[in-house]
Amino acid sequence: MGERPPVLLLHTGGTLGMRRDPDGAYAPAPGALAAALARLPELDRAPLPELELLEFEPLLDSSDMRPEDWQRVADALVERLPRHAGAVVLHGTDTMAYTASALSFLLQGLDRPVILTGSQIPLAEVRSDARENLITALLLAREGRLREVAVYMNGALLRGNRCTKVSASGFDAFASPNLPALAEVGVEVAWRDASLRPAGEGGLRSLRLRPVEVVALRLFPGIGGATLRQVLQSPVRGVVLETYGSGNAPSRDPDVLAALTEASARGVVVVNVTQCLRGSVRMDAYAAGRSLQAAGVVSGGDMTAEAALAKLTVLLSQDLAPSDVAARMAADLAGERSPDL
Ligand code: ASP
Repeated sequence: MGERPPVLLLHTGGTLGMRRDPDGAYAPAPGALAAALARLPELDRAPLPELELLEFEPLLDSSDMRPEDWQRVADALVERLPRHAGAVVLHGTDTMAYTASALSFLLQGLDRPVILTGSQIPLAEVRSDARENLITALLLAREGRLREVAVYMNGALLRGNRCTKVSASGFDAFASPNLPALAEVGVEVAWRDASLRPAGEGGLRSLRLRPVEVVALRLFPGIGGATLRQVLQSPVRGVVLETYGSGNAPSRDPDVLAALTEASARGVVVVNVTQCLRGSVRMDAYAAGRSLQAAGVVSGGDMTAEAALAKLTVLLSQDLAPSDVAARMAADLAGERSPDL
């Protein structure tokens, strides 16, 4: 210890640092994490890095996170990360995939690890997944091999903008359906070096978020043009449309397509992602998908809905014409989508 810069431990909230409230429900509690950490003597032992703990005020259950909170996390990282080997961001699992995705698009010039982790049971409980998640995330952040935003849970280090929460109760809360884990942690840490992102250049900085109205809409059998028109009204500027299979929408009802065509013509950016966990949108595979293409809908390739929503929010916050936002949605900016899709 001592030779390397410390690791920043940014506590935003989430179960890992929660305590039971008087009704027995888990709730964020200022100071609870520091107290639980003080009862872990192994934190003072090599090879664990020296830590600098920064606790957010207020601590949030991640279901309360909003884009302005993504910005607060990004700004705290820009301010402090240059003095640290890396950062571990403690975060609730509910919206961790959104925050990890947003950070991957906001942070420019990132050249060291930013690892989000959390747990399904608080660190203060006797039986918990928190200790392993925290300690391994700290070691991975200290190692410095990663130069991107990742999520660590239950033995798997996943690219932040590729993961999705798949279990509300298991310790394996996250999956990365379209990109294998960046590292698998067992007796050894097995890195998948070929998948790692190169270091960003030009110094760490963050794009700015502005209030923008975006919507995620999951298609369902029976959805009609009137409902779509209602959802796509101004001030909505971007929509993540969760379609069937390889990117299909009902094509028998001309009003559905008319509503989408009208929205695109008004400059609303409509991005097509699949409701399936694995695989990608290919809008030219079926006539039902081709008609979406004709309606001006952009293919989201194999992006997760979380990554698409965060990316759309970040891009619409910049000074870009809708056609430029659409072009960037169709491109790979931070490893969030596979090329040639
Ligand atoms: N509701 C909690 C949160 O997302 C769940 C968790 O931490 O896992 O903050």
